[in-house]
Amino acid sequence: MPAHVREQLGSALTRSLLLRGGVLCVTDHRGMAGDGTVLRPRLVAVSSLDVARVRSGKDHDGPLCHAAVGKIAGAPARALPGLGATTQRVVTSVAVPCGVCTWCGRGLASVCPSRRFPGMNAPGYAASGAALGAHGFAVLPSSVHDDAGLLAPFVAGAAEAVQRAAISERDYVTVLGDGVMGLLAAQIAARANPRVRLLGKHAPRYSLCERWGIKHRHVREAGKRQDQDVVIDCTGRAGGLLDALGVVRPGGRVVIKGPPCQLPGVGEAGIEHGRLMAAMAERVEVVGAGCGTLAEGVKLLAAKAVDTAALLTRRFPMSQAAQAFAAAGDRENVLVVLEVSGPAAAPGTVGACESA
Ligand SMILES: [Zn+2]
Repeated sequence: MPAHVREQLGSALTRSLLLRGGVLCVTDHRGMAGDGTVLRPRLVAVSSLDVARVRSGKDHDGPLCHAAVGKIAGAPARALPGLGATTQRVVTSVAVPCGVCTWCGRGLASVCPSRRFPGMNAPGYAASGAALGAHGFAVLPSSVHDDAGLLAPFVAGAAEAVQRAAISERDYVTVLGDGVMGLLAAQIAARANPRVRLLGKHAPRYSLCERWGIKHRHVREAGKRQDQDVVIDCTGRAGGLLDALGVVRPGGRVVIKGPPCQLPGVGEAGIEHGRLMAAMAERVEVVGAGCGTLAEGVKLLAAKAVDTAALLTRRFPMSQAAQAFAAAGDRENVLVVLEVSGPAAAPGTVGACESA
């Protein structure tokens, strides 16, 4: 560990949330990653991926929480020119490319095979101090406050899904899923196309669409008429692809917003092979979308392109992390926030999590 990191973290080292045997734990550990740039998180999102992993049972241990806003508490000299000041507010990136492989060298960092995913396969950010790689964050401009900034990784993913959809003004467009990703993708797509509709399952979220002037329906009421030019599936479920194939027209396009990486216990088998083959015969184009570019997410937030205030529905101090995870699994909530700067939880067991 670089000397300045040791200095910044003192004897506390990194404190983060882990899932261990289905139990949420606060752990101090020495496993520092990244280039030694140290983050002091202030806000951390409990995402649907975190909830899915907690619900996936007792066999899947690992770090949690990939989206955070905080301040840089220390950085190696080589990182300083990009930061401007060591007290900058930053938002974390979902994927951290290695920065040195041939893919990264060719400007293809988004598909770097050595990418790390903090909060998924590397220590997450619900911590009293966490190290970041040089590509692990983006600086937030003063016009983007902390709450909105926390959504930058989600906005980045939604923006990539919409970009991959290549929507024209005349297209009939359906966004599937009314989680954070679907609600953001619908808002971004609606900027380019007034015909965007959202199909979801949570009636309370329809009022958000009404506020934004976006049509909405329950996915069961939509009918499978195969009349949509473009479908953007933000459900994160195998069933989402089948729903998408039911509403896209022959020759249309389906965009699948994938998860950042494969996580143990998350995901489902069971794509109906026959339906998929029929879609291939109908020349439906199926394309994938990844995490997007964090800088693009920050840019859209600075431009006030999306309404974020309505999406952060509950907040808890770190000392109530177990309650926060329970609330995040409640369909009344869109996104739950942990305030790391509140009373810190002591190392140890926070609480058993609900399993499905
Ligand atoms: Zn790389």
